[in-house]
Amino acid sequence: MQLSDHSLRQIDEAYLERLGDEALRSLSSKLLLDLKEARERLNQTSRNSSLPPSREAPWDKTRASDAETERDETPEETVAEDTPAETARDAEVEAEPAPAAEAQPMARKRAGKVAGAPGYGRPAPTRVDAVEIHRPKACAGCGSGLAGQAGQAYTGYYEVDWVREGSGWTVRITKHLFEESVCECVHVTRAEPFRGTEDDVEIGGFRLIGAGLASLMVALSKRYRMSRARIQEFLHDWLGVWISTGAIHEALAEAAAIVAPLEQELVQAIQQSDLLHADETPWPEQGASSLWLWVFITSHTVLYYISHRGQELVRNLLEDYAGVLMSDGWQAYRWLGRRLRCWAHLKRKAQGLADSLNPAAQGFGLEVLALWDDLREAVQKSREGPPGVSLRHEWEERLLAFRSRCEAMRGHSHAKTHELAVEFLNDWEAIFAVLSDPFWPLTNNEAERALRHWVILRLISHGTRTPNGSRHFALLASVIDTCRRRGHPPWEYLQTAITRRRQGLALLPLPV
Ligand SMILES: [Zn+2]
Repeated sequence: MQLSDHSLRQIDEAYLERLGDEALRSLSSKLLLDLKEARERLNQTSRNSSLPPSREAPWDKTRASDAETERDETPEETVAEDTPAETARDAEVEAEPAPAAEAQPMARKRAGKVAGAPGYGRPAPTRVDAVEIHRPKACAGCGSGLAGQAGQAYTGYYEVDWVREGSGWTVRITKHLFEESVCECVHVTRAEPFRGTEDDVEIGGFRLIGAGLASLMVALSKRYRMSRARIQEFLHDWLGVWISTGAIHEALAEAAAIVAPLEQELVQAIQQSDLLHADETPWPEQGASSLWLWVFITSHTVLYYISHRGQELVRNLLEDYAGVLMSDGWQAYRWLGRRLRCWAHLKRKAQGLADSLNPAAQGFGLEVLALWDDLREAVQKSREGPPGVSLRHEWEERLLAFRSRCEAMRGHSHAKTHELAVEFLNDWEAIFAVLSDPFWPLTNNEAERALRHWVILRLISHGTRTPNGSRHFALLASVIDTCRRRGHPPWEYLQTAITRRRQGLALLPLPV
């Protein structure tokens, strides 16, 4: 919107009469833009709502149409052990800037208000390190510059941030003052913070938590796996700031929404890769059954999704994928043309048979283990030798013999033996594809290592609470791990992203 409510209230016919031609034209174009935007919003229904395409989950193409009814008001991605989140309003500072004389210590208070207790505003901080004055640059009515005009503060808020200072870091409390100026045309214009929405979450506005502190909270939550309550305790004990778990929750949700548009970039990088690792692990979401955390990982990009275990996600993401996919034996990947199978999985199963008390199972298991050892040695030797040499021919006889063994073991009374034989026969090409190019990996360690971090977090947090929370979780995890994989600390990128989006500027692409 071009004109604030405050400006619009002042514009009437008498005001228009007084304006010159040029000023009138400038104001008309603003009014026209606002009218069109307002009309579009008025005509908006759930069918043509402004949900971006990225909002549509890749495994659920019908979602956008009924998203309107699905959206819920509950806090997203609340970690189960958290105390009840305080209301959103609590996160903001009183609109009236408190005089410094009335400043009182930031008292430690328990998260959440006792039912029936009177509400009260956030106490002013004990100190203010910087005052930032926001002044309107041009008259919202007639358009003339206001640089020379004296301003008057009409509102303000405190921002707590965690910033670099010299060679270290420090807490900085900034008092933001917003001024209004009277133009010669008598219109009163107010400076206002940018407010926008991304992914259904409000971004910008009067934010208590600065971009650096928000980025630190994401690090504590996702990288150091702390609950909201633990983050609150950490910030209090080590940084000396007390922030409600509700405000922490809001800052995390805002950060996730801000990076939501990056999903397209990540998806593209995955689709264009030559070699991709994929894996999945169970993920609990309150009220949802059998969800999985999926990871897709290339040399430079990591993408997570929380979704059902069916084929839809893999189908939608990798429909036209031309590279090679490394995965475990899960059937969702079976339709892909160029696949590799993780040998570590097969080896574990073979070890199980080798440890069994059934002599036939034991024999077959030991045979697979020996095959694995020889294969690994041949691949390693081939990697050191002249490039472009395929092991296929050299191994032809050995594989033929092993194939007959698998066929003989198919239908064996020892169930695990039968299963492993069938697994080899069903996925033969993918299992031995590495013989065509020894530089392909033998295991899916990349993907398994990526998931391990989040599996520990899952044990601590018991998963997510809402579909939105799961989506936000996967977005932040993707951005953090992609930055790390590209050799950049994610926190600097996040801080810049939050700063820019809160000013209404475009998001920068991820570091390459
Ligand atoms: Zn004016």
